[in-house]
Formats: sequence, C-alpha cells, structure tokens
Amino acid sequence: MKRFAFVLAAALTLGACGENGIGSNQLLNAGDDTANWITHGRTYTEQRFSPLDQVSTDNVSELGLAWFADMDTARGQEATPLVMDGRLYLTTAWSKVKAYDAATGAPLWEYDPEVPGETAVKACCDTVNRGLAAWGESLFLGTLDGRLVKLDRETGAVQWEKVTVDQSQSYTVTGAPRIIDGKVIIGNGGAEFGVRGYVAAYDAGSGDELWRFYTVPAGTEDENSPEYLQAAAETWNMEVLASSDAIGGGGTVWDSMAYDPELDLLYFGVGNGSPWNRAYRSPGEDGTGEGDNLYLSSIVAVRPDTGEYVWHYQTTPGETWDYTATQHIVLADMEIEGQPRKVLMQAPKNGFFYVIDRETGELISGEPYVGMNWATGIDENGRPIENPETRIDQTGQPALVLPGPLGGHNWHPMAYHPGENLVYIPAFEAGMLYAPEADWKPDAARGFNVGFDLSAGDLPPDMGIRREVAGTVSGKLIAWDPVAKEARWTVEHPGPWNGGLLATGGGLVFQGNQQGEFSAYNATDGEKLWSFAAQTGVVAPPITYTVDGVQYVAVLAGWGGAFAITADGALIDDLAPVKNISRLLVFRLGADGELPAEPELAALPLDPPPSRASGETIALGGEKYARYCSVCHAPAAVGSTVLPDLRRSGTLSNAASWQAVVREGILQDRGMASFSESLSESEADAIRAYVIHRANEDKAGGLN
Ligand code: CA
Repeated sequence: MKRFAFVLAAALTLGACGENGIGSNQLLNAGDDTANWITHGRTYTEQRFSPLDQVSTDNVSELGLAWFADMDTARGQEATPLVMDGRLYLTTAWSKVKAYDAATGAPLWEYDPEVPGETAVKACCDTVNRGLAAWGESLFLGTLDGRLVKLDRETGAVQWEKVTVDQSQSYTVTGAPRIIDGKVIIGNGGAEFGVRGYVAAYDAGSGDELWRFYTVPAGTEDENSPEYLQAAAETWNMEVLASSDAIGGGGTVWDSMAYDPELDLLYFGVGNGSPWNRAYRSPGEDGTGEGDNLYLSSIVAVRPDTGEYVWHYQTTPGETWDYTATQHIVLADMEIEGQPRKVLMQAPKNGFFYVIDRETGELISGEPYVGMNWATGIDENGRPIENPETRIDQTGQPALVLPGPLGGHNWHPMAYHPGENLVYIPAFEAGMLYAPEADWKPDAARGFNVGFDLSAGDLPPDMGIRREVAGTVSGKLIAWDPVAKEARWTVEHPGPWNGGLLATGGGLVFQGNQQGEFSAYNATDGEKLWSFAAQTGVVAPPITYTVDGVQYVAVLAGWGGAFAITADGALIDDLAPVKNISRLLVFRLGADGELPAEPELAALPLDPPPSRASGETIALGGEKYARYCSVCHAPAAVGSTVLPDLRRSGTLSNAASWQAVVREGILQDRGMASFSESLSESEADAIRAYVIHRANEDKAGGLN
C-alpha cells in the first residue's frame, strides 16, 4: 500500500468518507479506515480483518447488546452490512435494503425493489442477498431478479436501475457488487437451472454496461471469438452446448471477488457445471463425460478496465459434483519457503485449501482442509488425483462422495488474521449419494436441471437412521495455517451450517452458529471467550466499526440458505428445528440490552388424509417431487423451518386447491410459482399422492 500513502493523507484530511462520498482513494485505503466498513470484505483484499482492538481478549466478556432491529422477512439472511459516517446499511432476504443510525439503531430509510414472488423458484438456495457496494454518495444493489439498482445513500431513493440478465431464464443475483475505479462489477447465479455464467461491469455514473466476460462457451465460438473462449471451446462438447437453451454450461459467478490494485487484477470465482452430470453436459463419443470444461470451478484473473483475460486456475477439471470455486477469495502477502509471496487463497467446495501466486496463477499449495474421497491429492501439474469410483459421469453408477454438493465450505465468508497468519474457515463435513439419472432430459422452464436423481439419497422415515446420519454431518471453525498447510486449531460445532467470520486486532474471531449462538473466540488458540444467545441460527458474517470512538460489532442473525431449506429438515426433522428470527444484532462493551422473550416454534399438526393412491402413482409423484419440489421443500417432503412443510399442508386433502397452487400459481406472490409448463395435472396430483404417502409414513413413525 506504500504507493498509495499520499492518497491516505489526503483522505484523512477530508474526513471518513471524503467530500464526495466513496471514491478510489477511500476504497484503496479502506484498510486504514477503521471507523467504517465501506466494501464487502472490508478491503479489496477481502480479508475481513479489522485492526480495531478496543474489544479484546481481555474485556470481550463485557460485550453486550447495544441495539437490535427486527427484519420483515423470515428467509435466509446472509448480508454483510456496510458502515459509513455513523450509518449502517444492509440488505435482507428478497433484496430489500435498510439504513440505520449505527450507534443508536434509529431507522433512517428502507427500500424494497419488489422482486416478483415467483422469482424464488429460480433460486437454488433461498431468496438471500449478501450485500451492497458504495460509490460516491450512492449504494449499489443486485436484486434476486437480476437488476442492478443505484440508490441515493442519504434517502434510499432510486437513481437508476438496469436489468443485468435475461429475465426469461433462471438467472438470479444474490452476491454483493464490487466497485473498481467507478466500474460496478456484478455476477449472477443459476447453474442448477441451465444458464450460461458471466460477470459484467457497469459504469457507476451512467449505468452503461462496459464489458461482459462469459465463463463458458456458447457452443458457437469461431476464430472471431475472444481467445480465452476459443481455448475453452477445446474443452467442451460444443454441439451439446449449442443444441439446447437448457444446457447453458453453468459457470456462474455468484459470489467471490477480490482486487489487487498494484497488479491491477480483478479475481473472481466460477461456479459449477450446468447440468451437474458432465455426461449430459459434455459427453464424449462413448456418451460418458469428457473434457475439462473451462472455466468451470476456476479462479479467473482479468483486467477490471476491460474484462481482458489474464490467467486462470481450474480447481476441479471436468466438474460434476457441484464443486464451485465461487467460495470466498482472500489476498495476502506472506513468506513461504523463505520467499515473500503475493498469494490468493481459497477453500472451495472440493475440500482443498489453495494457495496461489496471484500474479501468475501458479499453484503454490493445495491441501485437504476437510475429509474427502473424490481425490487423494494434487499432482505436479496442479490437477487433482481423482478416485475413479467417484467419477459418476463416467461410471454411470451411484457413488457416495465427500464432500457433497454443499462442499467442504460454502458461501460463508472466511477471515484472515495477518498477525497470526491464519485463515479462519467456516467448514462443513457432509457427503452425498450422487445417482446419475438415466435418460435425463433438461427442462428449460422449471426445476433443478442437474442430471442426477435427487431422491436417491432420501433417508428412510425411521428416526433412528436419521439421527445416525445427522451425527455424521458436522461443522467446524478451522484456523488454517497457509504456510504450514495444516489446521493450527479447530472448534467443533454440533450443526454444519454456521456463520461467516470476522477477525480483529483485539485478538478475536467472531462467529455465529446453527445453534443460535453468536460467539467470540481467541484468534490464537480458539478458546471460546464470550457468547450471546441469538435465539436463531446465524449464518451471516459479522462486521465491526466505530462511532465517536466506540467500537461496535454487528451481525445479521436469521436462519436460511441452501442447507436450511434442504438437508436441515431431511436430517434433523423434529430433533432440533432451528428457528428463523431475522434480526440485526449490534454489540458494544458495557451494553446490557435484552432481546424480547424467545417465541415458541409453531408447527401445524400432522394430519394427512389417508394414503389411497396406487404404488405406481406414488412412485411417479416421488420422482417429480425430487426434481421440481425437493430443493425448496426438502428431500422426501420433510420440510424445514424456513419454507412450508408440505406434509402439514391443508391442501393435501383438496385436489383442486393443490392444482391451484402447483399449476395455477395462486401463491406466486409468496414465492410459489406455477409449474404448469413442467407438470401436467396428473403429475401434479401424483406429487400430492406422494406427499400424502410420506406424511402418513412419518405419522406412523411417531411424528406429530
Ligand atoms: Ca451450485
């Protein structure tokens, strides 16, 4: 940062955020601006480390609730707030924005982009949003339905909005934009639904699109195409890519980005293939999966001015397990084997912790940070050494693979403590049975387009077996030493889906968890030093800031996201349902605020009509349920605390009401779109028969 020292001096004389709000000077010097939190990962390095040390290992026991604010959405909350000039700005589920006085919690304004409810069925992983970007006196928001919205930071008034995706396809935007020299960088999601991924830059002033970088070929590349896409074309079955709107290849850029101003490189992580099963996405002559399928599961470096390709590193060539490399990217400088290195670090879903030279893309090291059976290591060319039994796109046989599609680490941000030289990883241990689906056909209209039978891993109704399986799924807070290539310490969590991280100069690491605790750990040894009962699962990452010299720690609590709406119910069911009480919690030393009494979790009674359908109908319903319903309403219809438990639905006993919901879309404003293009009346009714069957099974098993 020496190069920018003169800039820092200028910024300080202008006050926290400068005369004209946030500009390049402020963003380049965000590391020194401890009062504010002006970009998603706090600085362009995305370290999520604040030097603030007023709250420290010595006094964190005196941390108390300063204020809280209840949210008006009870869906997944994944946002990192921004703080500028004593005001806190955050996004919630459904892409809403709220502004508060950061010291008192007084609400200042709110903005609702009015995302159409039926957009929810395009989202793999709940209606979440992960945050804002700031530039000038404005804030920038990506909405679930794919708009980039510019808001007046003072009032929340809309200044302009641009549609960044083809809204007729299943694109969604959940990630926080980043801003480099007045260019708003934004990606999108949808690789479970058949889209073609890209990242784009928009002019923060005019809103004009400046460049777009596609991560996978369209299938129609020729000698006039960008060179990097011509190179990618060599690694795909181009006929298949060109043949179908529903096989867009995937590779969506839905979360991580980082920027190195000295190298002038923008880094982003690329997602999984679409469909997951490579045999359908990129078959060779024998019909099994073939090709590396660039740039799936890659880390890519480009010039932020132009989007020009500079380098890539592919973590999982020929990806087929939903092994995205969209996980958090952290930049740091450190000495490795006696040499100072500028590194980029990532713990993607595939279970390897990567340390990469961020100037060249060369792999420095890659070591497993969680258990895995799909690979045994990384060879001298930087490629994983695969276990052929887990190559399901080539064997065509089911295989239990670790990590599963939720990865060894999902979207939850890590944190890096430069003093400790540790990366704190919110890690996850869970495998999945991947069962290739024979004669699978893509559906451009609706549903999970992955090429696997999603009911294959359904657990039997037996609660004993479910408890046993739940016991094999766990979460960890891992303090990873990127030089020694091993964990220095680990905290075991009872549940897998825990919060993102913050590290501070006070020697602390903050994290919420699935059990509803928000805790501070000693950054050096992992000792738990403080904990607060949040009454709800916490998955979002905390931040810290000061107002008038007082340090605050803030976290958006609330349960949701991919694990919560799918595997949570499937695994734990009535064992320990996790509540969603969506609420911003803000702490400071000496505060003694209290939350309202914890509400009871109210479940509807399990009172299904008798199951009278034929076995054939129930089987058809089960197959359609797995493809079109399970990703939101949980495998085997076991429900969750976030979305309706269909076993308890009043419409089960009324065929006409069921059709009105499933095919006519009467609940579309609440997120349940019509499936009439994908399901016939008799198929929809078969799903009803299946859910009635499942409800009766679970009632007989003792659930009520
Ligand atoms: Ca995915």
